[in-house]
Amino acid sequence: MDILKYANNIIAFFTNPIWKYLLYGIIFMLIIVWLAFIYWTYRDAKLRNAPAPFWAIIVFIFNYVGLILYLILRPPEFIDDVVERDLEIKRMEFLLDSAYAKCPACGKEIKEDFLICPHCRRKLKNSCINCSRPLNLDWKICPYCKTTQ
Ligand SMILES: [Zn+2]
Ligand SMILES: [Zn+2]
Repeated sequence: MDILKYANNIIAFFTNPIWKYLLYGIIFMLIIVWLAFIYWTYRDAKLRNAPAPFWAIIVFIFNYVGLILYLILRPPEFIDDVVERDLEIKRMEFLLDSAYAKCPACGKEIKEDFLICPHCRRKLKNSCINCSRPLNLDWKICPYCKTTQ
């Protein structure tokens, strides 16, 4: 009988031990992915200054649901980003403040164009004899008005 043979073939196909191994393989891969989820959550939470062990346990218990929960509730930015942004802001502030300098004699804060230190009276700059802009003490000519000093 052709039909019987056909049915037997189908049964043989599904009772093939390869399915068992395939199933083991899939379970194995799911475990690997699950562990990867836990590891990823732990690392990501640590970077974001979230309670990493707590979230790792949540993902360990609830798996996908825990991961989705974490993705919703995690803090939005990395600490590194925050630190980097703070540094950038500090740098910008410094650049904006670069008109400020320190007196070479007393170390107190002075402005770049001060002629004399208001704290210790150290002479810092000459003023141009023509345009009276502040000039470094060793300049021989004014770079603004080209007057020789
Ligand atoms: Zn000074
Ligand atoms: Zn000048």
